[in-house]
Amino acid sequence: MIHDLVVIGGGAAGFYAAAILREQSPKARILILERGKEVLTKVKVSGGDAVM
Ligand SMILES: Cc1cc2nc3c(=O)[nH]c(=O)nc-3n(C[C@H](O)[C@H](O)[C@H](O)COP(=O)(O)OP(=O)(O)OC[C@H]3O[C@@H](n4cnc5c(N)ncnc54)[C@H](O)[C@@H]3O)c2cc1C
Repeated sequence: MIHDLVVIGGGAAGFYAAAILREQSPKARILILERGKEVLTKVKVSGGDAVM
């Protein structure tokens, strides 16, 4: 499958980049690759649950 954006790492920066592209180009095919079992772990630690 061909993607318009492939993000290495499911952290805040990667999700933000993906969100910006999706906002500008709703049909963009985006893949986020995360090596861990969960994404956005640091955001959760820092109190980001409200946005999840
Ligand atoms: C305990 C703690 C509390 C914090 N509190 C705050 C706060 O209150 N306010 C604030 O503004 N900031 C806070 N921060 C900082 C903020 O969380 C980080 O600045 C932010 O998470 C950085 O985002 P990032 O996407 O650059 O990196 P990360 O969040 O580290 O994300 C990178 C991701 O990439 C993955 N990855 C790395 N290499 C690979 C690879 N080769 N293949 C696949 N995946 C890979 C990692 O597993 C990780 O999930 C806190 C950080 C910590 C640790």
